[in-house]
Amino acid sequence: MRFILFLLLLSSFQISNAQEIDRSKGDPKISEYYTPEAPVVTPGKTAHEAPSDAFILFDGKNFSNWEGDKNQPIGWTLENGAMVVKGGSGGIKTKRGFGDCQLHIEFRTPAEVKGDGQGRGNSGIFLMGKYELQVLDNYNNKTYVNGQAGSMYKQLPPLVNACRPPGEWQTYDIIFTAPRFYDDGRLKSQARITVIQNGVLVQNNTTIWGSTEYIGSPVYKKHSDREPIFLQDHGNPTAFRNIWIRDL
Ligand code: MG
Repeated sequence: MRFILFLLLLSSFQISNAQEIDRSKGDPKISEYYTPEAPVVTPGKTAHEAPSDAFILFDGKNFSNWEGDKNQPIGWTLENGAMVVKGGSGGIKTKRGFGDCQLHIEFRTPAEVKGDGQGRGNSGIFLMGKYELQVLDNYNNKTYVNGQAGSMYKQLPPLVNACRPPGEWQTYDIIFTAPRFYDDGRLKSQARITVIQNGVLVQNNTTIWGSTEYIGSPVYKKHSDREPIFLQDHGNPTAFRNIWIRDL
């Protein structure tokens, strides 16, 4: 008896379920596909930890994936799992080149506040060695808005100022689309960048105007699709740690 009741219930469920699909508009399966499957990636335990397919650029132990940007030996120091800028020793760049990527990088401006404006905890992350996402201590420190932390330097200010106080670790999660060039050197499409600073969106798929210039206008000059990432020595002992990247 119970079994018959179960069958009755099942068939009525199937009928009502079938009735909900309006077949007059066609077969819903036509718009469903199963290949290619998205690769499986194991996420880190937290959003800061590298997922399984990331390339670890710096894990706190050594500079093995870095070199001096002008072939000079790296003068930066390793302190408690962080790399610290040694003023005057020059910038550093990745040995590998990168194009479209997702980059996670953590930075800390000096706890001891010295200087003001651009002189406070200044460094920078140059995507492809050319397009600078500014690193600066802008916690109660004013400067030109398109030169503050989270700006594409001398181009585009951040949507908000999401800086933590000096001496605290901060995060940048960056999604970068490289520029494209035609074979004859003309620009095909500009670079774009999305940046989340400390969990807060500061650049939203922003179009980059060209290479970062201290004086004058940005320009695009044809370069390869993969170029090293450069970290700036601007004279301040700003620190970096936990740097990982995913090719996109
Ligand atoms: Mg800078």
